[in-house]
Amino acid sequence: MKSIAEIITIGDEILAGTTLDTNAHWLTGELVALNIPVLRRHTISDTPQEILHVLQSLSDDTCIVILTGGLGPTRDDITKKTVTEYFGGKLIFSEALFQEIQEKLKHRNKTIPESNREQALIPDNARILPNPIGTAAGLCFKDKKGRYVYLVPGVPEEMKCIFNESIRPELTKLPGEKIRVYIYKTTGIMESEIVDRIDERLTHFPMVKVGYYPSVYGVTLKMTVKENEGKAVETRLRDFLYDRLGDAIYTEGDRDITEIIAEKLITRGWTLSVAESCTGGLISHRLTEVPGISQVFTEGLVTYSNEAKMRLLGVSASTLKKHGAVSQKTVIEMAHGIRQRSGTNTSLSVSGIAGPEGGTLEKPVGTVWICAVTPEKEETIRIQFNKGRHLNKHFASQAALNLLRKLL
Ligand code: AMP
Ligand code: MG
Repeated sequence: MKSIAEIITIGDEILAGTTLDTNAHWLTGELVALNIPVLRRHTISDTPQEILHVLQSLSDDTCIVILTGGLGPTRDDITKKTVTEYFGGKLIFSEALFQEIQEKLKHRNKTIPESNREQALIPDNARILPNPIGTAAGLCFKDKKGRYVYLVPGVPEEMKCIFNESIRPELTKLPGEKIRVYIYKTTGIMESEIVDRIDERLTHFPMVKVGYYPSVYGVTLKMTVKENEGKAVETRLRDFLYDRLGDAIYTEGDRDITEIIAEKLITRGWTLSVAESCTGGLISHRLTEVPGISQVFTEGLVTYSNEAKMRLLGVSASTLKKHGAVSQKTVIEMAHGIRQRSGTNTSLSVSGIAGPEGGTLEKPVGTVWICAVTPEKEETIRIQFNKGRHLNKHFASQAALNLLRKLL
């Protein structure tokens, strides 16, 4: 039997437009990767009526239901009670779970509020899925039709943790056809260009389903193959993609370009400093999202004004006067300035016009100059992108990181 899922996200904050429903998005991706299609997604308010209504309306084809939200200790958290009673059970107080919650809160130096007794109430008709990082446990009910109904907290980190540790292992054991997903992430190349280079020849891979997912950081390719056909096609597909797309592919699998850079710098034994202008620290921020980056990344400066570029990086007044802050000459001086002052052997610099004001005919909004220097090479590029200030900054950060990646 093919497994089919429905996702229910509960929370008034989602319907009010104050919280983005990232849980449904993330869960859908995970289920689809497990070859479990999602038939429907429901977003409902924190009321027993709505929860009961959606449980009654589940499709007969559905055999997995994942429900998030409303498992906390507050008054609006009624999911557990409502679902327990719907499936004919009742809540009982678990002293063991209460002790466990108390222990967790003690570690966080918190006093234990009375409302946490609520969290130690467990259904007599469900299995407990431990929550290693929070106080609201996950639950699994099995209904009369043999469906699995999972309840997990709304807090995204806790939801993901319970899914990864308890739910995914169960779902992978379900009978049915398995699939393999190959992810190739590209950057610096447009979706249409990728299509031109690979689409026609993909007819040689009829067993592969291809998905193109463009974003401001580049285009992700997702190749889906039936498990039993995957191994045979894997190498041929990889060779084909590298042949056609070359180093526009920066990684296989779902990793950020900063992780690839960190890995390469560590392998090389090189150290990095960054001087940013229009990206306002975004490059440094993205680099510092990578665990272990401190081994190779020593510092980042945001030198926004001309005066700061001169004082902190030693960019010359005549360069700024003659060529302007957004110029090849300036980013070269910025990269050398930060490299020298920090003592790193690798550096990256960016200067551009994020907009909406400040553009000229010669240098329109979205013009960005980037320079990367390593012990072996130095390269500058000029890019042009105008999708508004916010996206311009993200695009510039990615182009800069990509230039550096290619030199490592
Ligand atoms: P709850 O488990 O309903 O008490 O949710 C706790 C917190 O998790 C909420 O305040 C939201 O910030 C967040 N949250 C709840 N549901 C979602 C969701 N579907 N997507 C993203 N965040 C959520
Ligand atoms: Mg809630």
